[in-house]
Amino acid sequence: MNEFVERKIELQWHEPKRSYDVVIVGGGGHGLATAYYLATRHGITNVAVLERKYIGSGNSGRNTTIIRSNYGIPEAVRFYQRSVELYQNFESETDRWVMHKRKGLLWVAHTEAGVRAERARAEVNTAFGARTEFVTPQQIKEICPQIDLTGGGVWPVLGASYHLDGASARHDRVVWALAEGAMRRGVHVHQRTAVTGLLKDGDRVVGVETERGPIAASLVVSAVGGHVTALAAMAGVRLPIRTHPLQAFVTNHYALAFDQMVASSSLLFYASQTARGEMLIGAEIDRQPSYSYQSGHHFLQSCGFRAMTLLPFLRDLRILRQWTGVCDMSPDYSPIMGESGAPGFYLTTGWGTWGFKAIPAGGEQMAELIATGKTPALIAPFSLNRFAQDRTMADRGSAGTH
Ligand SMILES: Cc1cc2nc3c(=O)[nH]c(=O)nc-3n(C[C@H](O)[C@H](O)[C@H](O)COP(=O)(O)OP(=O)(O)OC[C@H]3O[C@@H](n4cnc5c(N)ncnc54)[C@H](O)[C@@H]3O)c2cc1C
Repeated sequence: MNEFVERKIELQWHEPKRSYDVVIVGGGGHGLATAYYLATRHGITNVAVLERKYIGSGNSGRNTTIIRSNYGIPEAVRFYQRSVELYQNFESETDRWVMHKRKGLLWVAHTEAGVRAERARAEVNTAFGARTEFVTPQQIKEICPQIDLTGGGVWPVLGASYHLDGASARHDRVVWALAEGAMRRGVHVHQRTAVTGLLKDGDRVVGVETERGPIAASLVVSAVGGHVTALAAMAGVRLPIRTHPLQAFVTNHYALAFDQMVASSSLLFYASQTARGEMLIGAEIDRQPSYSYQSGHHFLQSCGFRAMTLLPFLRDLRILRQWTGVCDMSPDYSPIMGESGAPGFYLTTGWGTWGFKAIPAGGEQMAELIATGKTPALIAPFSLNRFAQDRTMADRGSAGTH
């Protein structure tokens, strides 16, 4: 528990009821946002969020907090742009300070192919509502004086896309603000309540089995992070998801302002500065699928080296701590939202390395689907059946690390 949770927000806890209209499994950002928007936009409050540990204990409390909409395909740009906009109003809507800050994101290219990719990103972003421009090396130096344009003599900086609305927000504050907003309107959040099975009537999912007994529900939503394939399998749904660890680290305080965020597809890392002044560095997923939360020195060595290539000042800093989350990766690097194929069982998953930024829009759209029974146009392209219908939403280059 931190000071924000202990003193600033008001939480009302309840004993679990035997039945709810909607049971949401997983008290991360996506589960809580779905509950929050069900309550605030649709007045649906007979809802329980069941979390096996404490809320935000999954990836929603472990990420590097980057919010952006500079994706590579129209459907993704539109969806993430909606989330960027909801985040921009998040503090006034929830009346909670989540330290949202617009910073701008430079996505650096080191090869001619990279330049073409970043030019294309700027074009597709502009066409579908996100603010991204292509910038030259001289402009990059003005935006971020700390960048070594020679890339250590090996990775010269040839240009970048500059996403003006790139932002960050304090991750744990986001999830607790959503929990508070939902609970204040009557939603029940039950921590330390693992779902161990699904109740079924024929093919239909009619509730969940938990460590605290069975709970019936008209609709069950899986907002599980990690192990989502196991829960879906209980509903008879096979998910094309592989779970991979993703590591990150922070350094000690860096005195000079590093106001923007920087990513490099070739060097496979991204960097920003936290409100405390630490440099926060993230990278690509571990190659081997695993549910392991173990952090390793090999990651620090390789990621640290790559980051210092572009940002040499990092050499003078020390690594303060590192951590790991487990990411549900879909084959096309896009999320999976909507109906699962099993009656009474909806999914919001496949959030991989990119789901923090999507929390408000993902929750808003899932809530609309639940309330109306109709899949909103914004998330229709991200349905599970796209894999069976051979219309995948391949957007690998936008995962942040590829
Ligand atoms: C190191 C790292 C850096 C990242 N950086 C970024 C970034 O900069 N920007 C970005 O957009 N995204 C980022 N991400 C990805 C982002 O954090 C996730 O996509 C997002 O948090 C997913 O939210 P969620 O609610 O789906 O999952 P989670 O936050 O993982 O929540 C799922 C919850 O389900 C619970 N659960 C699991 N099984 C059960 C069960 N059987 N019963 C009850 N509860 C259960 C878990 O305990 C967990 O709390 C990063 C991830 C990591 C690990």
